[in-house]
Amino acid sequence: MAYNINSECINCGACEAECPVSAISAGESSYVIDAATCIDCGACASVCPVGAPNPAE
Ligand code: SF4
Ligand code: SF4
Repeated sequence: MAYNINSECINCGACEAECPVSAISAGESSYVIDAATCIDCGACASVCPVGAPNPAE
């Protein structure tokens, strides 16, 4: 399991600094999470102003 960042992302960058395993980086149109690195902690979702990070199905 991993979190995904959806299209609501406004590229604020707040989540990147919160990730304990540095799984988040700036992508082409939004920030992206490396699923292989994500430990499913939810920290990114708690700081995101628009609720873009969500647990993957
Ligand atoms: Fe990083 Fe946790 Fe978000 Fe995964 S759920 S991307 S480990 S902050
Ligand atoms: Fe995008 Fe939310 Fe991360 Fe900001 S905190 S870069 S809006 S996913």
